[in-house]
Amino acid sequence: MTTHGHPLAHMKFAPEESPCRFVAMVPQNVTENLLLEELRRKGGDVTYQTSFASAEQDGDAVNVTVNRQGEVARFSAAMVVGCDGARSKVRQRLNIPLEGGEYPDSFSASGHRHEVFLAGG
Ligand SMILES: Cc1cc2nc3c(=O)[nH]c(=O)nc-3n(C[C@H](O)[C@H](O)[C@H](O)COP(=O)(O)OP(=O)(O)OC[C@H]3O[C@@H](n4cnc5c(N)ncnc54)[C@H](O)[C@@H]3O)c2cc1C
Repeated sequence: MTTHGHPLAHMKFAPEESPCRFVAMVPQNVTENLLLEELRRKGGDVTYQTSFASAEQDGDAVNVTVNRQGEVARFSAAMVVGCDGARSKVRQRLNIPLEGGEYPDSFSASGHRHEVFLAGG
């Protein structure tokens, strides 16, 4: 681990039993861009600032209602996939219970950027 060219700490991360004897870290924005590029290459797209509100089965299709920045919009879809997180509205609308449990504690997460000054550098 280095900062501004100075070594801060050293950690061996090469487990003998793994064929991948290195650390690979990919920032989320890089992964997301790769996935988005591939989705668009295949003819799909992502609509941002849009939240799922409800869905009703209509024969082989699903009538979906979404909220786009305060505006209600409706469309028909072949299917709805509930990948909207732990408090999934899609899951709740389908009355599917949450499997697993929740931590009794509350956590908060934040990101910080620090300037580090090293003596003797
Ligand atoms: C601080 C923190 C650190 C973590 N670190 C790690 C880690 O190091 N390694 C690890 O494996 N896991 C980690 N996790 C857990 C990991 O982030 C989750 O398990 C994972 O993100 C779950 O993915 P998901 O796609 O199910 O849900 P999410 O990542 O929560 O994605 C759900 C998406 O649905 C969207 N959404 C929600 N409601 C609606 C709606 N009504 N309409 C439309 N969209 C909606 C949300 O905006 C979000 O984009 C961490 C979690 C936290 C909070």
